[in-house]
Amino acid sequence: MASENLIEIRKVTFGYGRKPVLKDIEMKIPRGKVVSIMGISGSGKTTILRLVGGVLRAQRGEVIVDGKNIDELDRDGIYRLRRRMGMLFQFGALFTDLSVFDNVAFQLREHTDLPETMIRDLVYMKLHAVGLRGAHRLMPSELSGGMARRVALARAVALDPALIMYDEPFTGLDPISLGVIGNLIRKLNEALGATSIVVTHDVQETLGLVDYVYYLSEGVIVAEGTPDEMRENAEPLVRQFVYGEADGPVAFQYPAVEYGKDLRLH
Ligand code: ADP
Repeated sequence: MASENLIEIRKVTFGYGRKPVLKDIEMKIPRGKVVSIMGISGSGKTTILRLVGGVLRAQRGEVIVDGKNIDELDRDGIYRLRRRMGMLFQFGALFTDLSVFDNVAFQLREHTDLPETMIRDLVYMKLHAVGLRGAHRLMPSELSGGMARRVALARAVALDPALIMYDEPFTGLDPISLGVIGNLIRKLNEALGATSIVVTHDVQETLGLVDYVYYLSEGVIVAEGTPDEMRENAEPLVRQFVYGEADGPVAFQYPAVEYGKDLRLH
């Protein structure tokens, strides 16, 4: 029987070269849920996505995706698994010389033998889901930032992935587009019967959207829970992050000599 969790990360440790980045990470991502990995920049969030995508290998511990240990898969196995993953990275990076339609069709043409008439129907369906069927002829340069992000989203789900990974999906968006993308992440997860991971430091938008949060600090999970549990979490690091306080365990001031001493120098 398939495990209840699409992803299990067991005691994973990873570093780039000698630089340790993740320490003893434990995560369970249940099927059908939208789970967030939060934390300030450099805490190791994207590295976790790379481990799940099989781009990197854990130095210790196990990454299990859909019952398979990533470490035990050969290249073909990894590619097969990746085809079932949709990835949306920060700026969506559309192909600038392809129309909206062709951007979304790209993976379908690349990875399937479907006839063009069926590809057309699928592309329109995905574009319709993100509200942009009417924009299929436009070129990326004609799109607003929010629209480009939605096209990238349609493209990421073109192959009906079982897992969708979003890396900072809200960065650089105006408040309205932010809300639109947030709703789409949830809606697509339901419509596709998928599981989603959202890596982000956009706290308020994310807490309103996800089922569960892992909070990462310097490569360690220091808190986890539902959005409500995170809002009530007393851990100072989490409070500072959730409530956007300027000062706390993460200091506003870069370490410096006592202010008076600096002033006396002049
Ligand atoms: P986040 O996504 O939370 O911002 P990352 O996972 O991107 O964090 O990075 C975690 C740490 O690993 C950072 O200190 C970053 O500088 C370092 N790092 C990321 N990618 C590489 C790489 N390819 N080579 C060396 N160090 C890296």
